[in-house]
Amino acid sequence: MLNLALFFKMIDISKNLNNQQTIAEPVSINGIGLHSGANVSMKLYPAEADYGIKFIRKDLVNNNIIEALWSNVTNTKLSTTISNQSGVSVSTIEHLMSALSGLHIDNIKIEIDGPEVPIMDGSSIKFVDLIDQTSTYSLNKKRKILKVKKNIKIKNNDSSVELKPNNQFSIDFEIDFPSKLISKQSCQLQLINGNYKTDIASARTFGFEKDVDMLRSNGLALGGSLDNAVVVGESRILNSDGLRFKDEFVRHKILDSIGDLYLAGAPIQGYFFGNKSGHHLNNLLLRSLFANKNNYEYI
Ligand SMILES: [Zn+2]
Repeated sequence: MLNLALFFKMIDISKNLNNQQTIAEPVSINGIGLHSGANVSMKLYPAEADYGIKFIRKDLVNNNIIEALWSNVTNTKLSTTISNQSGVSVSTIEHLMSALSGLHIDNIKIEIDGPEVPIMDGSSIKFVDLIDQTSTYSLNKKRKILKVKKNIKIKNNDSSVELKPNNQFSIDFEIDFPSKLISKQSCQLQLINGNYKTDIASARTFGFEKDVDMLRSNGLALGGSLDNAVVVGESRILNSDGLRFKDEFVRHKILDSIGDLYLAGAPIQGYFFGNKSGHHLNNLLLRSLFANKNNYEYI
């Protein structure tokens, strides 16, 4: 069997980031939904301290606010979906959430005119670039950080996720796919330290050519194409430009995990380990963390 491992540290969580941040000016972006295939427009607005991250469904008039929190996660099949009390939802939020985490945005209002965040190029780099069009803005209020105090582990067959106390946010991830194309890269992986924008943000989501028909017949991946995903065939990567990183697959799993973990509602200080896991276990991990007040504290 094959095995890919990557160790990624986000070392800058504690420096110069004592205050909560938002964006300086509103910014807009358009794209299509990966699963719906529908066009969607999104506009990001600055928000005040302690506002958090909220999606506003502009195509709906009533009960259209959905808070980006672990407790609002209602579906984790292929992507992460959140819903409010009225059942109004927004899906595929993880790449945008990942960019917001990576850029340390605590408070932001996201207006969207449909039920799915646009997939863009399948990574979070377009959201990073979008926020770079404006800038981050420090608010006059201290940021709170969620410190993990106990070891928490969730297992499902041979997949698992863990959180452990640590003096910074660090992520360790392993994947194991029965594809020769992914196995070829496993020997080339090594310890990597770096920042979100250069090492993680441009890693794209991926899928297997053999699954495309099944997904489409189930009404999924209708917007999927070589423009927004790495497609792994039997013997080759179908994208003409190939991969952006030799280990793009595991980097994307880290990108996803950073996004899912940001649904904690605050930056996490702790060590995360994911083994062949995904959105479902990430959410169960947060549910388990918050199930007992002894597991964490805010600092
Ligand atoms: Zn993803």
